Amino acid sequence: MSTQNPVFIPGPTNIPDRLRAAMNIQTVDHRAPDFVGLLKPVLADLKKVFKTETGEVITFPASGTGGWEAAITNTLSPGDKVLVARFGMFSHRWIDLCERHNLDVEVIECPWGTGAPAALYGERLAADTDHEIKAVLVTHNETATGVKSDVAAVRQAMNSADHPAMLYVDCVSSLASMDFRMDEWGVDLAVSGSQKGFMLATGMAIIGVSQKAIKASETARCPRCFLDFRDMREANAKGSYPYTPPISLLYGLRESLDMLLEEGLDNVFARHFRIAEGVRRAIDAWGLKLCARSSDLYSDTVSAIYVPEGFDSDTLTNHAFNAYGVSFGVGLGQMAGKAFRIGHLGSLTDVMTLSGLATIEMAMRDLDYPVKLGAGVAAAQDYYRQTRANGHKLAA
Ligand SMILES: *Cc1c(COP(=O)(O)O)cnc(C)c1O
Repeated sequence: MSTQNPVFIPGPTNIPDRLRAAMNIQTVDHRAPDFVGLLKPVLADLKKVFKTETGEVITFPASGTGGWEAAITNTLSPGDKVLVARFGMFSHRWIDLCERHNLDVEVIECPWGTGAPAALYGERLAADTDHEIKAVLVTHNETATGVKSDVAAVRQAMNSADHPAMLYVDCVSSLASMDFRMDEWGVDLAVSGSQKGFMLATGMAIIGVSQKAIKASETARCPRCFLDFRDMREANAKGSYPYTPPISLLYGLRESLDMLLEEGLDNVFARHFRIAEGVRRAIDAWGLKLCARSSDLYSDTVSAIYVPEGFDSDTLTNHAFNAYGVSFGVGLGQMAGKAFRIGHLGSLTDVMTLSGLATIEMAMRDLDYPVKLGAGVAAAQDYYRQTRANGHKLAA
């Protein structure tokens, strides 16, 4: 099996050589005085990626899920009410996590393929005149369905209802790939991880935290120890960690931030849109349909694609892996067997993306899907050729 083929899963993403080299280091003493010089600027630059000036960034050795757990347990107490919409596997898992922490979870059920229902959030908040709801949870990019939600609209609904709840956003598969504006959208807790837009190995939770959320962390009563904001903030203020940090990931993150900020965040977002749009043209040429129900919901980091009636998407992704050594995302939850996913975030070039489209086309033909070999690739090639002037500045 070749290890040179890119992955087309929506995280972990392909690691650029520059970042692999940065993470390949000898043992570093995290108690040595020079460690301060690494951590503090990394935390400062992360704020630029979250687009927050008033908030802080807190990191933990964990994955995105650990980031959720930290966000919830540091700011809420058992029995607190949270309002959350379920429209995919990741919003579902967030609900499960809140229930296991004995929060009182009010769920807005939405069809998968739709996004965060700002109007319904607004209705529930307006009805909550006693302000029992302490937290509003939104999955910015639902990785299971390839749906991007309008976080600003949810904030607007909260403001219209004049509701003081805090806004928690899962941006694990959107931060550093699609526009995210923590301060402008009034986000109190923004949860991400190292292995998606930051293009690093898995192992770090990265959380944007507003001043309001920091205040809440001083009195919140959910148990936590390893993931305690208080210990981490106290140590971070001295440029250190309360325990051994994920040192190689921090070196990688330094380099990743350099790459993202050198390219410029707007260019990073434009690059993701362009790569994604080529993939969407291919899907259209195959005659297949996205799970995302309308174009305003299309995610620029992952596309979830229904297979035709009578076909099984797991057979397709298994075949692509076994026959060609290329990973695509499987259908999750309700989408199992019905949809496969193409992850198109992080480090991808036109050429890499075309190789993925060509591979899934071959796999579909092998399994007698009614698609014409080359049709999707040609549609993407056309688009990439037409837009090349904007597209040659690619993450290496
Ligand atoms: C990947 C992902 C997560 C989970 O992150 P892990 O790092 O796997 O724990 C949560 N939410 C979304 C939207 C994701 O894409």
